[in-house]
Amino acid sequence: MPKYTLAIHGGAGAILRSEMTAEKEKAHQQALQVALQAGEAILQAGGAALAAVEAAVCLLEDCEYFNAGKGSVFTHEGKNEMDASIMCGKTLAAGAVAMVQGVKNPISLARRILDVSDHVLLCGPGALEFAREQGLEEAPPEYFFSEFRHRQLQEARARGKTQLDHSQKYGTVGAVACDRQGHVAAATSTGGLTNKQYGRVGDSPLIGAGTYANNLTCAVSCTGYGEYFIRGVVAFDVSCLMEYKGMSLEEAAHHAIHHRQLALGGDGGLIAVDAKGNVALPFSSAGMYRGWVREGEEAEVGIY
Ligand code: ASP
Repeated sequence: MPKYTLAIHGGAGAILRSEMTAEKEKAHQQALQVALQAGEAILQAGGAALAAVEAAVCLLEDCEYFNAGKGSVFTHEGKNEMDASIMCGKTLAAGAVAMVQGVKNPISLARRILDVSDHVLLCGPGALEFAREQGLEEAPPEYFFSEFRHRQLQEARARGKTQLDHSQKYGTVGAVACDRQGHVAAATSTGGLTNKQYGRVGDSPLIGAGTYANNLTCAVSCTGYGEYFIRGVVAFDVSCLMEYKGMSLEEAAHHAIHHRQLALGGDGGLIAVDAKGNVALPFSSAGMYRGWVREGEEAEVGIY
């Protein structure tokens, strides 16, 4: 029986060591560990990769440290508009949401779209309507509010810029897994960029850009400045490099981030697993919150 593997991320970016206290570092590592444990418990019990990535991302969405769910950044208008997607490598089924407001766990909404909808990507008020029909948990604006995020918005507005959350702190979240049946899955969730406007949507809800999974190759979840990841179709690129060029997971993931993305001018990172349980976690930014665990081994977390 193949062994299971799970990897998660809490965003890549300029996470400056000078701004990181030992206390903060520990709190983040603990949050990553809790999410890893939740996903691992499912894999350990023989559960599906798809269920494991959803569970891990849900916990990261519930944690205010990361830019997803509860911790989502503010748009220019002071709203929280969230993007998320999930994909099953066995069936190539996918579900995604963009610009959704007021849903506590956008990744579970994406999962519901995968499971019961005829569509792949729902956005804005339509996505909320579907969430209500499906009885998904909603949360009021106060749930998503934090002084820290609000200050970030004021600063970004004053500079007239949109900015990656982790240019100051924390980021998008994601998970990839391979279960004991050798099936892979990927999930990504985000609040996007601080001060984003005009209905901006990033790479996270776009299958092939921020998220991709295929049992033949790998499962990938990306983080970084979304516009570059959309143009580079990064998650699918990793899969194609493996399928068409015969690269290993490690080579393909490294090439996508350190060559193709850098050539485009983008930086960031990704997490990936293949159906043999290999893991790759390349990033070109100063840091990437990440954690990974393989069956029978100790879980590990890292930032730099
Ligand atoms: N990729 C996300 C976006 O552009 C941001 C992030 O990774 O934090 O929306």
